[in-house]
Amino acid sequence: MPLEGTDMAEFTMELNDEQKEVRDWLHGFAADVIRPAAAEWDEREETPWPVIQEAAKVGIYSLDFYAQQYFDPTGLGIPMAMEELFWGDAGIALSIVGTGLAAVGVLANGTEEQIGTWIPQMYGDANDVKVAAFCSSEPDAGSDVASMRTRAVYDEAKDEWVINGTKTWATNGGIANVHVVVAVVDPELGSKGHASFIVPPGTPGLSQGQKFKKHGIRASHTAEVILDNVRVPGSCLLGGKEKLDERLARAREKARQGGERVKNAAMATFEASRPAVGAMAVGTARAAYEVALDYATTREQFGRPIVDNQGVAFQLADMRTSIDAARLLVWRASWMAINGKPFTAAEGSMSKLFASETAKKVTAQAIQILGGNGYTREYPVERMHRDAAIYTIFEGTSEIQRLVIARTLAGVPIR
Ligand SMILES: Cc1cc2nc3c(=O)[nH]c(=O)nc-3n(C[C@H](O)[C@H](O)[C@H](O)COP(=O)(O)OP(=O)(O)OC[C@H]3O[C@@H](n4cnc5c(N)ncnc54)[C@H](O)[C@@H]3O)c2cc1C
Repeated sequence: MPLEGTDMAEFTMELNDEQKEVRDWLHGFAADVIRPAAAEWDEREETPWPVIQEAAKVGIYSLDFYAQQYFDPTGLGIPMAMEELFWGDAGIALSIVGTGLAAVGVLANGTEEQIGTWIPQMYGDANDVKVAAFCSSEPDAGSDVASMRTRAVYDEAKDEWVINGTKTWATNGGIANVHVVVAVVDPELGSKGHASFIVPPGTPGLSQGQKFKKHGIRASHTAEVILDNVRVPGSCLLGGKEKLDERLARAREKARQGGERVKNAAMATFEASRPAVGAMAVGTARAAYEVALDYATTREQFGRPIVDNQGVAFQLADMRTSIDAARLLVWRASWMAINGKPFTAAEGSMSKLFASETAKKVTAQAIQILGGNGYTREYPVERMHRDAAIYTIFEGTSEIQRLVIARTLAGVPIR
């Protein structure tokens, strides 16, 4: 019974029928198409184009699918999709969802015309799939985004932007059809003086630098992107020049007035995107836990299944408890994001921190439960453990999440 004078808020922790249907469909794709291909593409360390193509054919690799989940009014569409795909395999799943990172950059900052022009070119179609890259990190600007050096200068006579610099760690960097590049337009303003640009397919001056050989998520391509006098039309500045000029004028005015005001809520954009990474981590952790549970109930030593030993059973209990707790934090933050709730305790960062640390721990415990087999490539948990290590690094390291949470709680500026 609601208390008199109060409204009963609608609240449920269950997926609705439509969401369950989508989840089961994604799970089927993850189990039948992604998981069987995982070991091969991990060894090959290459983008799994045939799997992306399969995903495009059934509609999983498309803007429509991504947008549908993104705008799910419960907020659970994206975390549910990420968990299932990454349950299949993290490297392949990142190859499938990596384009989404660049697409969200355009959706969030682009004009309607830019969205309509560039996002379809990011995905291509089922017969000719394309990928996109989001290039922000640089060799000297990882956690410290404000020290970015890639520079974009406006050439008014030609209405073109000239971009120079080196980006690193770009998922799909150099193999993408469309690159979204963040660059400095006003060095005086730190991170407030950044803007994002589309670099269209085939633009001279953009090239791939080193392709990284990685510890995990090896089916996902990660590389440097070199920008050498890259010229893009004025229409490639996301949001347009007028909006940029207004934003820069506001930032200069604020700087003149003595810097930023203290905020007591963490930055909404990151808080809204980080739970998605948390959901990826939940997917990997759950995958390893399931393998470990199955193994523990079938492997016998000393005449009984190893799960009959409390030392093994308690590990499984802890693994499952952490995974469920991580999912709840992810769902809470995703629900807050879609409902426009202020992240007064950096709840998005919290969910990413806890879920990514959980994935690292749970995948290590899974190796332990599988004994010698866990340590070989005959079983998937060693790959899952290598994959899990990325979650505490990208989209802000665990240390940066803690810093954001602590500063938000203390009411001091994030930077
Ligand atoms: C596989 C992969 C894919 C990626 N994909 C992309 C992509 O598509 N696009 C993109 O732009 N970037 C991407 N990144 C980059 C990623 O976001 C950065 O690696 C990450 O932000 C960390 O930056 P860094 O590697 O320079 O580490 P650094 O910032 O140098 O950090 C090194 C260590 O110092 C710690 N540290 C740094 N500052 C502090 C502090 N103030 N307090 C406490 N500890 C601190 C960090 O937590 C970390 O442990 C990717 C990275 C990888 C590995």
